[in-house]
Amino acid sequence: MEQENYMRRALTLAREAGDAGEVPVGCVIVRDGKVVGEGRNRREELTSAASHAEMEAIAAANERLGSWRLEGCALYVTLEPCPMCAGAILNARVSKVFYGARDPAFGACGGVTNLFMEDFPNRPALVGGVLAEECREVLRAFFQKLRNDGGTGESPEPKI
Ligand SMILES: [Zn+2]
Repeated sequence: MEQENYMRRALTLAREAGDAGEVPVGCVIVRDGKVVGEGRNRREELTSAASHAEMEAIAAANERLGSWRLEGCALYVTLEPCPMCAGAILNARVSKVFYGARDPAFGACGGVTNLFMEDFPNRPALVGGVLAEECREVLRAFFQKLRNDGGTGESPEPKI
């Protein structure tokens, strides 16, 4: 299935983030069957609360397409977008959002709230649960390893 292939690419980016010591979240943006933006969590690397996978992928797609508008684009992300990223998705006018694991701690697409059900213009179509088990497992394994390594405990574990 096409959407699973794109989610697999997002999972590869998530694992890259995990290998770099970041909470493993990856994101891919696709238009007309082509990947136009990719991103992964770089919060630690850039010491930036805003450096989520979706923000990086949106910036990359904006640059690649030469436009802040991402109409006709589908965004695939391994973890349900938070309010910041859901806001960026709305602002960029992304047409479709596919996410993997639900995030009951920070999710803004149903986990805690659903910004895409509110009365904003250009709300994207939403599909949750794409490769959900694999997406959850990447996160679970990361936090398990952090605990085993006696991690700093600075990143609260999402309740997933
Ligand atoms: Zn986010």
